[in-house]
Amino acid sequence: MKAQSKTGSDSGVTLCPNCETGSMEAFYEVKGIPVHSVLLMPSRDHAVDYPKRDLKLGFCPSCGFISNTVFDPTVHEYSTSCEESQGFSPTFNAFAKSLAKRWVDQYDLSGKSVLEIGCGKGEFLALMVEYGMARGIGIDPAFIPERLDTPVASKLEFIQDLYDERYTHLEADVVCCRHTLEHISPTSEFMRKVRKTIGDRPDTLLLFELPDVYRVLKEPAFWDIYYEHCSYFTTGSLARLFRRHGFDPLELDLEYDDQYIVIAGKPTSGTPVPMLEGEDDLESVSAEVGRFPEKFRKLKESWLSKINELHSAGKRIVVWGGGSKCVSFLTTLGLGEQIDFVVDINPHKHGKFVPGTGHAVRSPETLRQDRPDCVILMNPVYEKEVGEQLDGMGLNPLVLPV
Ligand SMILES: [Zn+2]
Repeated sequence: MKAQSKTGSDSGVTLCPNCETGSMEAFYEVKGIPVHSVLLMPSRDHAVDYPKRDLKLGFCPSCGFISNTVFDPTVHEYSTSCEESQGFSPTFNAFAKSLAKRWVDQYDLSGKSVLEIGCGKGEFLALMVEYGMARGIGIDPAFIPERLDTPVASKLEFIQDLYDERYTHLEADVVCCRHTLEHISPTSEFMRKVRKTIGDRPDTLLLFELPDVYRVLKEPAFWDIYYEHCSYFTTGSLARLFRRHGFDPLELDLEYDDQYIVIAGKPTSGTPVPMLEGEDDLESVSAEVGRFPEKFRKLKESWLSKINELHSAGKRIVVWGGGSKCVSFLTTLGLGEQIDFVVDINPHKHGKFVPGTGHAVRSPETLRQDRPDCVILMNPVYEKEVGEQLDGMGLNPLVLPV
């Protein structure tokens, strides 16, 4: 069954699932992209034959929300074969550690309890407890007990499931939700569940982190748009969602090279809380949405001409980073033989294949033998880290960060 709006998809009008009042206006479309970009494929055939769907981004002028208006939630199979963890990168680890520590210190969370919705492999939940929180409950269908290595294991509890009505009774001082809301299509409905979980405990703290789409629109970072991410927020649209559901935003920041929005909130006390910096963005987001199609067309053209030129000259091109950005980059540009293979530092990905295009994923060590002329780097945040690794192997390829 296709995702249907309340007004019906036949009319061509899609009601905004975030504010439930505005209508979504389409502005970007990619046909036939793999429905998962973090699942590991055991063979090239599996990878190429992987189920595909369309993506059609719409913008709600009322609340600033962006979402895939033809998203089909029934194709999702979030499970333990999900390799979404970025925990193998020292850069990402350092960021997660500093965020966990800052949150525990800043909000005085020592001795308190935390519920993490969409805890992935549980690394962040463990960090919060390692930094002083008393105990943690994590919910995620992709949780794998044997993968978590922490001295605070006895203070952690995990539920290997999707968060829904059955879990709104769970109590905690903090509700944490990182890199999860962007996977949820009915965001308003989700926030109602969170509000229900919190009940009449007005001191409960909400800590959310998710990608910022404003940067994606502006760059335009089309590789950050992929099927699993059906919902896209800016600082303003996220803060407005919090306020609409009875939460006062306490903190609204951009972190990790401005890629992620970090927001903290509390159930409203009734006294109006002043607007935070970044909340009043509806006009500027609307303008960027308007500019996006032409910006995307130009950038796509520029990447294709660069890559095709190198390929025609017989150069070996590899992509560094085998995650969702890579899958989106390869499929959106329709790349095939131009790219030799993909490298990733996560050993669980080695020997597997990229869904959609079927490129092999190998360890960076293989570059010693199959020396690249050009490395397309999927996340500029890792430029220093990757540069050092290439140097260490005596390699000096042309590095093109996206
Ligand atoms: Zn809306």
